[in-house]
Amino acid sequence: MMLERLRVIVQEVNTAKDLQSALDVIVSRVREAMNTQVCSVYLLDPEINSHVLMASEGLKKESVGRVRLEVGEGLVGLVASNAEPVNLDDACSHPNYLYLSETGEEQFSSFLGVPIIHHRKVLGVLVVQHREKRSFDEGEEAFLITLSAQLAGVIAAAEATGAIQGMSPSGQRKSDTSFNGVAGATGVAIGHAVVVFPPADLDLIPQRVCADIDKEVDYFNAALESVRNDMKALTSTLETRLRPEEQDLFGVYLRILDDDALGKEVIDRIRNGQWAQGALAEVAKDHVRAFEMMKDAYLRERAADIKDLCSRVLFYLQNRDAVKTEYPHDTILVGEELTAAMLAEVPKEKLMGLVSVRGSGNSHVAILARTMGIPTAMGVVDLPYRQLDGRELIVDGYNGQVYNNPSDQLRNRYREIIKEEEQLVKGLEGLIDLPCETLDSHRVNLWVNTGLMSDVVRSLDHGAEGIGLFRTEVPFLLSERFPSEQEQASIYREQLFAFAPKPVTMRTLDIGGDKALPYFPIQEENPFLGWRGIRVTLDHPEIFIAQVRAMIRASEGLDNLQIMLPMISNVQEVTGSIQIIKRAFRELREEGLDVRMPPIGVMIELPAAVYQTRALSRLVDFISVGSNDLTQYILAVDRNNPRVASLYSSFHPAVLQALQFVVEQAHLENRTVSICGEMAGDPGGAVLLMAMGFDVLSMNATTLLKVKAVVRSMTFTSAKELLAQVMAMDDAQMVRSCVDMALYNAGVDRLLRSSRNN
Ligand code: PEP
Ligand code: MG
Repeated sequence: MMLERLRVIVQEVNTAKDLQSALDVIVSRVREAMNTQVCSVYLLDPEINSHVLMASEGLKKESVGRVRLEVGEGLVGLVASNAEPVNLDDACSHPNYLYLSETGEEQFSSFLGVPIIHHRKVLGVLVVQHREKRSFDEGEEAFLITLSAQLAGVIAAAEATGAIQGMSPSGQRKSDTSFNGVAGATGVAIGHAVVVFPPADLDLIPQRVCADIDKEVDYFNAALESVRNDMKALTSTLETRLRPEEQDLFGVYLRILDDDALGKEVIDRIRNGQWAQGALAEVAKDHVRAFEMMKDAYLRERAADIKDLCSRVLFYLQNRDAVKTEYPHDTILVGEELTAAMLAEVPKEKLMGLVSVRGSGNSHVAILARTMGIPTAMGVVDLPYRQLDGRELIVDGYNGQVYNNPSDQLRNRYREIIKEEEQLVKGLEGLIDLPCETLDSHRVNLWVNTGLMSDVVRSLDHGAEGIGLFRTEVPFLLSERFPSEQEQASIYREQLFAFAPKPVTMRTLDIGGDKALPYFPIQEENPFLGWRGIRVTLDHPEIFIAQVRAMIRASEGLDNLQIMLPMISNVQEVTGSIQIIKRAFRELREEGLDVRMPPIGVMIELPAAVYQTRALSRLVDFISVGSNDLTQYILAVDRNNPRVASLYSSFHPAVLQALQFVVEQAHLENRTVSICGEMAGDPGGAVLLMAMGFDVLSMNATTLLKVKAVVRSMTFTSAKELLAQVMAMDDAQMVRSCVDMALYNAGVDRLLRSSRNN
């Protein structure tokens, strides 16, 4: 019963068109449901540092919008500052009670206020009041708390929508609205948003202005007509097999499509300037919600029909809409979940920044962005991204912040930062041809991670000494089917050729987790613990063998190939893989190719592999640590989940100990050890890793010179002292500060800005 009431209220609030109507619905429905005399909502307006009475049923109407309590003032202030309910039978006798004559609240004795909390932040207070002198009972209090928790998200979203239009909750003008995410790729971008979305999903269509209204209406009508025809065709083929009442369903479908029903509403919205897809999505949303709110279960089911119908119309709109997305010269790509393919579609010189609502700094899109040097904010969960198309944004990739509606002052400040960064990069160019060694002549190899051919060019420009990780799945992600052996061979040859005679480490296909191929979908409850990396390729030897054949074939005459195996959790996966690689090698020799057997390496990415480093080392030629996954699996923190991003740290003492252990064990077997996770490209991280004894640090080309600058300004002795110091610490943040301090003392703190990722 109570659940049902909660559901209905939340649903109805969800359909409200803006913040004010949402709040109006809340106060009137809650008053009804709780059978009280008063229900009010106060929201914090940070612009005036006050709680504003935003809506009320029961208090005098004229006080709404007028009553403003400074933060901490009154009972409302008490609820908000303690983030705890206050339940009183006689409010006016409480020391915090503040008499506000304009509300007429003196007639109400009892008071129950609960905080409205979203992501740990108190947005405001929901209050109910009674005439009688009796406090609200436990059940009522629990009901209001539950309701408030559910409404908080809706209120936050409505506030955010207002904020991007330049309004604070109570209607003050505001600029520089900021939304917090997590750092994705360093740098700052100022530009205009282009909202991108995967096809055929009504829920993800952004709002966009349409250029030619009549043409848009025609598009829509044509799409509608196509669906109507499909429906009629369906009805006639199914006629003999359906019962009359089922046939009637198609009749209903056809009527919904009638010009004066759903179709008309969409056209009205197009006439107001919205593009057809956006108008359709909005109308669909309204109707689906309206049906979902119905008490009758049969009618509730009809929501699915509307969705289905509208998705069919969307299909035709998207197929007919030949309009290609226009990318301005300063594109900031915004999406619910950006993919490698979406990035690839934007002309490189126009892509300034990226904003993803989902994912975190260690998601693969973020890694790709870092490789390409594009400032990126990830996991900006509260961003009302669908309404951002065409707006000016500032992306602060250092902190993962996005600013909308920037003031001149803010824009100028960020322009300065961009200029400083450019100067810094220029200043480092002198290091390109210098060796990467410490002041006391300890040499460490700086290699790069690549995915696309453009990375290779940039890497060579930055003086890279080898490729420590070529993520072969990147070209697979951008393709529409598995590339053939021949296609793969030519992609691989480009990389091998460009770097020869320097070594190129190619990793076998590492899909799964957050890397899904559009043509090979993997649906799993728990993808990071599931079918990923070597597990997929061993189960599909035909894919595996084609890939290694392509690699070895591509290396003919160059002989600079190394093959590396991802996600290894036991020795059998390694011996099984080696057999396949050897078979490919034999086949190619038999086919007459003059190729050599490449060195083979294992990635240490799982805790299991850490403890088996020595056994694994005996089976292969080299070891490479994937600290991104290793950190995720040691700490049990999904690298892709922004909610737990603050727990993800490669500086966690447990991770540091694992890394140190791997180096020692691999060296006992005389194997070289490299590290190709993001930690290697973090100047502070690089110093620690060098001190641990890693032979190779492999990183994004963009960070290579910064790391080189740091290494060249330190002694190996001081790096080892620093390592000894942090290995004795028991907290990730302490380690981070200690490392930052050491870089500061070495005079290279200006390079620190790039080190916020771990
Ligand atoms: C890693 O896990 O550290 C790694 C280098 O591989 P990826 O980031 O591609 O999973
Ligand atoms: Mg990995």
